[in-house]
Amino acid sequence: MPSQRDDCLFCSIVREGAYVRKADGFVAIKDINPKAEVHLLVIPEHHVDSFREVSEFSSRESKRMLEFVADTAREVGLTDYRVQVNVGPGGGQTVFHLHWHILGGGPHHESDMHATTAVAEL
Ligand code: 5GP
Ligand code: ZN
Repeated sequence: MPSQRDDCLFCSIVREGAYVRKADGFVAIKDINPKAEVHLLVIPEHHVDSFREVSEFSSRESKRMLEFVADTAREVGLTDYRVQVNVGPGGGQTVFHLHWHILGGGPHHESDMHATTAVAEL
């Protein structure tokens, strides 16, 4: 059984949340506050606080985690997308259980919106 924390939001989502995909110790869920047309979070069942602790995963688990991200994106029909990991509060991390953002479709980012508006105004 991978390590879990009782007081961790993503540990409880992994245990009982609604997921898009689940396999091999990983789940993909829809972000509650999407920042792109498609915004998924890939969460390993094994709790580590952040990407800084990635060495707690075996090489095999690390490889499977990356493959799970790529397979999830493909399965939801994305060919072009961004993968993002925020590390620490200064890096924008707000939930301290390692997770990978998959962001596809757009433009949905505020900066992209501004860029689009600027072009439209030319
Ligand atoms: P971070 O800022 O830590 O990189 O990303 C945390 C993400 O988790 C945010 O994009 C936020 O919208 C999402 N989130 C926070 N609470 C919940 C929740 O209860 N359910 C889901 N599905 N996403 C959540
Ligand atoms: Zn956790």
